[in-house]
Amino acid sequence: MSYSRAAVEEHLKPEQDRRAPVPTDDAHTDDNAKMPPLTVRLATPRGFCAGVERAIRTVEESLALHGAPVYVRHEIVHNTHVVARLSAMGAIFVEEIEDVPPDRPVVFSAHGAPQSAHADAEARNLLKIDATCPLVLKVHSQIRRHHRSGRTVILIGHRNHPEVVGSVGQAPEGAVILVETLADIAALPALDGPLAYSTQTTLSVDETRDMIAALKQRFPEIAGPAKEDICYATSNRQEAVKAAAAGSDLFVVIGSRTSSNSVRLVETARTAGAADALLTEDAGEFDWSKLAGVETIGVSAGASAPEILVEQFLTALAARRTLRIDHIETAREDIVFNTPLRLAG
Ligand code: SF4
Repeated sequence: MSYSRAAVEEHLKPEQDRRAPVPTDDAHTDDNAKMPPLTVRLATPRGFCAGVERAIRTVEESLALHGAPVYVRHEIVHNTHVVARLSAMGAIFVEEIEDVPPDRPVVFSAHGAPQSAHADAEARNLLKIDATCPLVLKVHSQIRRHHRSGRTVILIGHRNHPEVVGSVGQAPEGAVILVETLADIAALPALDGPLAYSTQTTLSVDETRDMIAALKQRFPEIAGPAKEDICYATSNRQEAVKAAAAGSDLFVVIGSRTSSNSVRLVETARTAGAADALLTEDAGEFDWSKLAGVETIGVSAGASAPEILVEQFLTALAARRTLRIDHIETAREDIVFNTPLRLAG
């Protein structure tokens, strides 16, 4: 017996009796009768965060206001489906400001950009719309403040990730030192003068805690944010995955490989006790042979993955196995960020 997509959507409502079987005429019905039922531990919160919603809305509103094409510096958020949808609406994604024609607006992605990219756009007199997440902008202003006050900034993050490139680029070359691992911290030379640290917003909460502790041990006077820079959405999704991963034979995170927070969720699931964990772009990419022998599967989605992809994955699961869906909810989110003011004008 299997659940239809409509039935799965019903299952997504926590207040429903989620154990009531819903018969369908699906082609897999006979096969499913022979398969053991599958318990789905669905992590909440998952999927879109306030920064991603704002960034996507910004491109949509820019297209509505200025017409197509609207140029976007870098993928607006790291999700293949989101980028494909906005491309179909008339967004053109470029890596360099010099690739933007003089008469078209340019939206800066949610990850933020170095000051040099903003300066390039201003020098070319482009209409610049900044969709950088406000929580990334907070890190930028923190780095600039530390630099102005004469501190060398140690940034914990992943080299070449666009957010890190943007954060390093808030101060002149050499003023921000990037560390990725505990070994990098151990290998730092003795540093003269006052120090401060900041972090990428989408790191592993647990690993970052260890790295901050190592920094404080090496440089007891180092200044840091009152609360770590890892954003609420990253922390909440990792907490929910920790709770849902325990006892899972397999944990599936829906998200793109370029999405840092999605990759962290896979690592978090493994560390929290899932026997196996993997990232999949969508149900179409998933290797269904992985379901063999699985009785409990954990499911979550990165902060840039649309909920429809989770629904499609659950529907595809329901076509293969009888589902029992347990909602593992560890936090409620009601944060909304307004779109950039420039759009209003
Ligand atoms: Fe902002 Fe966090 Fe979402 Fe990144 S993951 S866009 S920092 S809320």
